[in-house]
Amino acid sequence: MPSISLEFFPPKTDEQRAQLDRAATALQAVEPDYVSVTFGAGGSTLSYTAETVQRLHQQHGFHVAPHLSCMGGSRAEIAALLDEYRAAGYRRIVALRGDLPSGMATPGDFRYAAELVRFIREYSGDHFHIEVAAYPEVHPQADDALADLRHFKSKVEAGANGAITQYFFNPDAYFRFVDDAQRLGVAVPIVPGIMPISNFSQLKRFSDACGAEIPRWIAKRMQAHGDDAAAIRELGVEVVAQLCRRLLDGGAPGLHFYTLNRARTTLAILDRLH
Ligand code: FAD
Repeated sequence: MPSISLEFFPPKTDEQRAQLDRAATALQAVEPDYVSVTFGAGGSTLSYTAETVQRLHQQHGFHVAPHLSCMGGSRAEIAALLDEYRAAGYRRIVALRGDLPSGMATPGDFRYAAELVRFIREYSGDHFHIEVAAYPEVHPQADDALADLRHFKSKVEAGANGAITQYFFNPDAYFRFVDDAQRLGVAVPIVPGIMPISNFSQLKRFSDACGAEIPRWIAKRMQAHGDDAAAIRELGVEVVAQLCRRLLDGGAPGLHFYTLNRARTTLAILDRLH
């Protein structure tokens, strides 16, 4: 059975909290293996991440995995969060470097995610199952694809148990990445991150920032629908469900959905898959 996990971001207002609750309630039907909650770089949403995982765990009954990014953070701050998460009974963490917010000068005590993974292992032993990020289309700051792959391997050697990829729309990039990682001796599961498409202009902005490529044929078909939100969503569901099917048929161990705190499109994709 492939694993299904869902990612949320921490809401900051009451309206956003209500939105999260609606999405979480609707997504109960999916019975995800766990849900994860993102972490704002530089500590800006530090407390919101902890508050949100608690909400998803206590009110909605999910197994949770807080994201923990080390950029801008000190060892003491990270140790305090690890203590808090351990005391709450959480068993999984998504460990990341994060990105330095503009205007922030100090990177903190850790430079790369591998250093954070090593620290979590030293500090908390085997308590946490650690997921790390992987980039089938290459991290935008990497010198080259091979260097990026070696850096990915170093996170696994530091103690990561699994990886979740940046989203992509080209399944060959994923299969190639998994093959290359396995050739280098990486044996942990690499779960593809799936971005449901509901708002195409927002997706384009995200993709430019994180280095995910939107294939020309998808962009052209989306543009042909202009402002017709329903047609864009329907095309998005069809394209992403087909991607998921190819990934699972090709041996992907699971799917991790970037829900953006909305249920409808993720549910429609999973419905199409079944
Ligand atoms: P790293 O693995 O440290 O890699 C960062 C870059 O440094 C890469 O280019 C790598 O090749 C290079 N590198 C690594 N080690 C070395 C070395 N020793 N020498 C030289 N170069 C090196 N961001 C957030 O702020 N909050 C989140 O909650 C969050 N969640 C995410 C979830 C997933 C599944 C993914 C895929 C990304 C997420 N991100 C999040 C974004 C992520 O923080 C950024 O992509 C960030 O730029 C890199 O983080 P990383 O953990 O992959 O870093």
